[in-house]
Amino acid sequence: DAAINRIAAGEVVERPSSAVKELVENAIDAGARRISIDIADGGKTLIRVQDDGCGIPPEELPLALSRHATSKIDGSDLLNIHSFGFRGEALPSLGAVGRLTIQSRAEGYEAAEISVDGGQIKPPRPCALGQGTIVTLRDLFYATPARLKFMRSDRAESQAISDVIKRLAMAEPSVGFTLRDVSGGGEGRVTFRADAQTGDLFDALRERLATIMGREFTDNALPIDTEREGVRLTGYAALPTYSRGSAVAQYFFVNGRPVRDKLLIGALRGAYADFLSRDRHPAVALFIDCDPHRVDVNVHPAKSEVRFRESGVVRGLVVSALRHALAEAGH
Ligand code: ADP
Ligand code: MG
Repeated sequence: DAAINRIAAGEVVERPSSAVKELVENAIDAGARRISIDIADGGKTLIRVQDDGCGIPPEELPLALSRHATSKIDGSDLLNIHSFGFRGEALPSLGAVGRLTIQSRAEGYEAAEISVDGGQIKPPRPCALGQGTIVTLRDLFYATPARLKFMRSDRAESQAISDVIKRLAMAEPSVGFTLRDVSGGGEGRVTFRADAQTGDLFDALRERLATIMGREFTDNALPIDTEREGVRLTGYAALPTYSRGSAVAQYFFVNGRPVRDKLLIGALRGAYADFLSRDRHPAVALFIDCDPHRVDVNVHPAKSEVRFRESGVVRGLVVSALRHALAEAGH
């Protein structure tokens, strides 16, 4: 019922940036090449995510809004997760905490839209749209005043949204991203933009990282590409001379998912221990890819935590790969 839905929704949607994360992940899962995100008032009054992905056929629209309905796994193998989504919780949760409209058009179908307001689903109806999906979420937490109180300033929430989009954009260099602030109406103001990168994976990643972390980072970073016992580590790691006074420029991804993980941060510290004092931090963007069975992403619904089954292998790989790269570069 509506109250239970609202409580469960709070687990998935803590603030506007968590809604943005779920919607942008859905767009990536749908195979989008371009994703535009419009927000107003820090996402509190409006979050709109448009993609050119596969779309949703009209008859599947109500299903997309029902709890634990996901088109992404059949439920038999919760561990073998390749896409971002798998719980089928995001859209129903968003529908429980805000006014949600999904407009979509899948190839070979007419475009249709469906709305849900306070958990009340309205019947689907035809609409006009090219291929893809637009999800509009208005007035987040309007029915949950307790949650509203925990929201921070528009600026802080906008910043958190921008961070979420940048992290996802780092993991998807071939997808174009545009973030617009449309507070006050009109065309709005582009606050972040990353053009779709084509060509070689490493070049695409370097260009994407230059857009997000700055050209100074990519000019002072070593490419990493190594594998051990079926675990692959790729990305860029800064030279010790390009270190930071804080750890904010440390990005890790596991099977394409942005993660924050103590084990990985510890491994990084170990790798640079001989070069950096404790108050300096290396900037890195590192991607770990392995068989999904070897990593547990079910730790938290927001999915930014992971648990490696063989943490020693991962730690050893990170430390030795970075030390090796630094030694090759004369350190
Ligand atoms: P999950 O991502 O875990 O499957 P969601 O609640 O986020 O659950 O989405 C439910 C379903 O709605 C998805 O499995 C997918 O079939 C469909 N869907 C959601 N967003 C999009 C989108 N942008 N493009 C195409 N299909 C989508
Ligand atoms: Mg999802």
